[in-house]
Formats: sequence, C-alpha cells, structure tokens
Amino acid sequence: MKAPHLIIIGGGFAGLEIIKKLRNKPIKVTVLDKNNFFNFQPLMYQVASGGLGPDAIAYPLRKIIAPMPNIAFRMAEVQRIDTTAKTLTTNIGDFTYDYVCIATGAQTNFFGNAELEKHSMQLKSIPDALDLRSDILQEFEKALSESGSGNVERILNFVVVGGGPTGVETAGALAEIKKNVLPSDYSELDAGKMQVHLIESAPRLLAAMSEISSSKAKQFLEELGVKVQLNTAVQSYEAASGNLTLSNGQILKTDTVIWSAGVKGKTIEGLPESLLARGNRYKVDAYNRVEGFDTIFAIGDISYMTSDTAYPNGHPMVATVAQQQGVLLGKNIIRLLNKEALKPYTYFNMGSMATIGRHKAVFEIFGIKMQGYFAWLGWMFIHLMLLVGFRNRLVVFLNWMWNYLSYQRAIRIITRPFVPKS
Ligand SMILES: Cc1cc2nc3c(=O)[nH]c(=O)nc-3n(C[C@H](O)[C@H](O)[C@H](O)COP(=O)(O)OP(=O)(O)OC[C@H]3O[C@@H](n4cnc5c(N)ncnc54)[C@H](O)[C@@H]3O)c2cc1C
Repeated sequence: MKAPHLIIIGGGFAGLEIIKKLRNKPIKVTVLDKNNFFNFQPLMYQVASGGLGPDAIAYPLRKIIAPMPNIAFRMAEVQRIDTTAKTLTTNIGDFTYDYVCIATGAQTNFFGNAELEKHSMQLKSIPDALDLRSDILQEFEKALSESGSGNVERILNFVVVGGGPTGVETAGALAEIKKNVLPSDYSELDAGKMQVHLIESAPRLLAAMSEISSSKAKQFLEELGVKVQLNTAVQSYEAASGNLTLSNGQILKTDTVIWSAGVKGKTIEGLPESLLARGNRYKVDAYNRVEGFDTIFAIGDISYMTSDTAYPNGHPMVATVAQQQGVLLGKNIIRLLNKEALKPYTYFNMGSMATIGRHKAVFEIFGIKMQGYFAWLGWMFIHLMLLVGFRNRLVVFLNWMWNYLSYQRAIRIITRPFVPKS
C-alpha cells in the first residue's frame, strides 16, 4: 500500500521535531521551507550586534534531512493551500498532500503602523540581523562624517521598542558596544553621545518572568547606561525628521528604531479568515488539528490552542512550545497511522531567561531563579546545548571566549550596506 504523504511547511523549531519522530516510519514526508537552513532565533541579536556570524546560528536543513530516507526537502515558499484538491501552490510548483502541517512561525507585528513598519529595523530573520548590524556600524561612520553638523546625537541615538527578551538583550548588546567598541574603534567620536533607549508599554520588563527578574534586568540595563522607560508606548515615527513620539508626549530624535514589540502568525492564503484567532494564529484543537479539518495541522507560533486550561489565551510564542508540539505531533501521526487514539497537548513550561551583558543575566529555569553572574553562565550553557550541530556550538563557544577575553565584538563588518527605505 502506498505510504501517505505528509507535507510540513517550515523547518523551524516545530517542524524539525516532527521529522525526528517520523524518521524511518511508514510515511513519506516532504519539508518545504523558503530558506535552506534552520535559524536559531534566540541568538539572532548577537548576529545583529556583531558578536556572532550568521553561520554560527543557522544550520543547513539538508544536512539534517539527508540521512532520513523517508524524508525529502524542497526549498520552496508556500503561497496557497487548496483544501479541496489537497494541493499547495509554491514558487517552484504544486505539491499534493494527504496530511499537511503548517509550521510557518511568526512575523513582526507593527500593529498596523505603516510608518514604523517601513522605517524601523526588525529582528525576525538573518537578513534582518545583518541589516541591523550594518545599520549600527553605518550610523557610527555617519556620525564621524557629520561631526560638527548638530546631527550626531540623533545619529547615535538608538531606540529599542519592546521590553521582552529580544528587546532587553538587544539594548544590553548596544550598551556594551558603546562601552567597549566605540572608544576603541571610533576614538574620534565622543562615546558619551551614544544613547540607548528601551521603551516598554507595560509596567515592567520581561513580563513572562518574576517581578524580581524584571526589576533586576532593569537595574542591569541602567547600570550599563540604558535609559529604560516603562508604561510608555510609541505613538508615531517620522523618518525624515527622526521624531519618535512617545505616549507621554516626549519626542526622541533618532535615526534607528529597533522594533521588538510584538509578533503575529505567518499565515498561508487559502484557509478561511474565521480560523484566525488573537495574534493571527490558526485555531487548533488539543491535537494541533486546525479547526474543522482532519488532515491539516498547525503547530508552534502559528497555532492557537485554548484547550490547555492554564493558557486560555493560547500558549506563549516560544521555542519550547513549538518543540513540544512538534514531538507530540510526530508521535500522534504515528498513532494516526496505527489507528490509535491521539494524545492531547499540555504545555510544560520550563521557564525563561535573558542576558543583559557581561556577567549580567536573569534565569528562571525548572524553578531555579538566579540573577547576575551564575545566571549569565547558566544562560550561556543552555544556549550552547540548544544550538543545532556540533560545529555551531564550537563556533559560538570560541566566539564567546574571544569576545569575553578581548572585550570586543569580533564581526564588526559591513558586508552588505543597509539602505533605508525612502
Ligand atoms: C529575535 C528572537 C529571539 C527569540 N528568543 C527566544 C528565546 O530566547 N526563547 C524562546 O523560547 N523563544 C525565543 N524566540 C521565539 C522562537 O524563536 C519561536 O517561538 C520559534 O522559532 C517558533 O518555532 P516555529 O517552528 O513555530 O517557527 P520558526 O522557528 O520561526 O520556523 C518557521 C519556519 O517556516 C518557514 N516559513 C515561513 N513561511 C513560509 C512559507 N510560506 N513557505 C515556506 N516556509 C516558510 C521559515 O523560513 C522558518 O524556517 C525568539 C524569536 C526571535 C525572533
């Protein structure tokens, strides 16, 4: 009998876990991803701040899939799903499925603000991280060429919006660049003119963590010179004048706004709008089946599951949810093939962490709460272990050692100048 064909759209945290479970099982699997690599997003801010090269956090999908005889990979961007013909339209042609799993992840949410979407920097892909790295270095070059013009403060004003882990880590990395890179590489510039702002609309940073970790993270950032504003939202940004208007009426002059204030699901055309819930995510049942469909699954950031009573507004959009759902769905597909009952998903929250800079981190994993030096060591150890591939772990470890000993960020290069949208 012909093996059923499962197509997984997206080889990210969720997609990769499914295929590990389906290796050598009686099912044909095709992974479609618009990129040919897996992206370890938690370390992307380090690429943006010149601490790591992109190849340290990206891993070729073919290298993972090649030893799996029943699994194929195609580099393809899925554009549309036809649920009646069970067909996916992609930029390289059509694919027919028996089962499909949507694991497309998320994209930046600008909450409908077109000006911010056009003119702010984001951190959702490797090209975004490389653009930001180039932009930061280009701003330093620009500040030198415009010294004496009165624009230097605006050029050296960096505003990070969103006080989640990405915003906190990015602001911390920028503050370390000010402290360690600017005085050595740009000694002609007055480093004191570089300012890093972190704007958060909620009353505290790192909302998913305890009050102690939130206030410690704020304290660490302020010790590094970051100007943190809580209970403050960004209202508008005018790129030509550099005016960033805040909800408290303050106007910050800046050429660089880094938007890390939200994400929303990355949907595929062809499914009814009625399936979309909060955060642009597909409503799924406890087995990650898209509501009303027996053969369509959605997992990870793109899925919205409310059956888990501890999370009535859906699970957090984090890698652990994506991985756990991937593992369970892989096992459930085997159960489906064996005509066995499926098992429902419940989130096992392992905790979270964020690093702010050298010897400064907050860490809450498996109930162990630490702040400062040991939290920083714990953060590094866990990230090294979570990276895919021995080479990547080694490269990241060596880069971190180098950065630690030299107080530098090794990859301070503009390989692809960033051109702001006009
Ligand atoms: C900067 C940053 C830092 C983060 N830090 C943390 C952290 O510290 N801890 C944590 O737990 N989580 C963190 N996250 C969140 C975490 O990365 C996500 O929750 C996780 O990646 C979700 O996994 P996923 O498989 O759903 O999606 P992803 O891992 O994003 O994978 C989606 C895949 O789908 C592909 N794709 C998308 N659309 C299409 C299409 N139309 N056709 C073909 N392929 C497509 C993409 O190329 C990608 O490979 C961070 C995210 C970001 C952006």
